[in-house]
Amino acid sequence: MNNRVLDERLKQIFTELTSIDATSGNEAPVASYIKNFVNRLGLEVFIDGASELSKGSSGNVIVEILGGGEYLLASHMDTPRSTANLKHMFLEDRITSDGTTPLGVDDRGGLSSILYALERAVASGNLKPCTLLFTVCEETTLAGSIYYKPDPRIKYGFVFDSYLKPGNFVSATCGAINFEFIIRGVSAHAGISPEKGINAIKVAAEAMTRFPFGRVDEVTTANIGIVRGGTGTNVVCDEVHLTGELRTDISSYGEKLMDGIIADFNEVCAKYGARMESKYFWDFSPYNIKEDDLPFVHFSKVAKRVGLTPVPNKSMGGSDANSLNEKGVKTINLGVGAQNPHGNDEFILYEDLQTASALAYQLLTTENK
Ligand SMILES: [Zn+2]
Repeated sequence: MNNRVLDERLKQIFTELTSIDATSGNEAPVASYIKNFVNRLGLEVFIDGASELSKGSSGNVIVEILGGGEYLLASHMDTPRSTANLKHMFLEDRITSDGTTPLGVDDRGGLSSILYALERAVASGNLKPCTLLFTVCEETTLAGSIYYKPDPRIKYGFVFDSYLKPGNFVSATCGAINFEFIIRGVSAHAGISPEKGINAIKVAAEAMTRFPFGRVDEVTTANIGIVRGGTGTNVVCDEVHLTGELRTDISSYGEKLMDGIIADFNEVCAKYGARMESKYFWDFSPYNIKEDDLPFVHFSKVAKRVGLTPVPNKSMGGSDANSLNEKGVKTINLGVGAQNPHGNDEFILYEDLQTASALAYQLLTTENK
């Protein structure tokens, strides 16, 4: 495979988009690139109020094509790390950086696939009613997709944001709960009057022996990843912070497990006269799109049309698809082939970029009828 499989125009759009440095919260220059691009094609964009939630420089960019239709195509505008001073390397079969910065292929690969497809679809006159959604802060908090208020007519969607090869898609993910516990004891001099203290480290250590570290069952994992506390070797420690996560496919089980863990920790605290403050929230919720669900059916149709076998995959990570599913917009996350995401060795094969855009073109020009 060589770079002749990549259309020059798609290569140009990808190069322009990856030349913009826009980390999470600093998406405004990408938003304005998209606005100019879309306006030039005779379409309107609007920018929603997602910056209220993300505290960033732009809201989500939304394009309602021919009334907005009943499905959407989405990708995110932010990169997790700066791509300033990016030097593109156009190798025999792929685009990468020179190894000193990320390429920004996550998710400018998805973004350029959609924009190039849009340009072709407008030129062909075959554009169908649908909505384009370009989000902010996917990499940090999913603030863009969490804020997004879909028109009630939008029933399903396609996110272009998976490292999988085109044709593959994420049809199901676990959900993730993030938690933070603060265990408070009583400080005292460790040498002179240790009996006056309650050592939060000791309490935390005992409580943690009850924590179900690792793989809890086939669809659930648990981890405490950060422990902070203590001020000196001669001080009975009065405060320890623990942060961690649970991942599970089943929301109700996640809640139940979390409640059980908090009860265990409180019990150990009570035994020593310590107190605990706890909080947790769903970082993202699980979803599971079935074979007869709209995005699965529609995608299978267009994948076959470009000669691909549609392959559903399960993922242990979250994306904008999780927040869209939570809003009732049944969404799958499509493989774009953005490989080694977030590293300095990010790359995309010409072949994959071209195919991802061919899929976007089919979705923009073929209704699910
Ligand atoms: Zn991404």
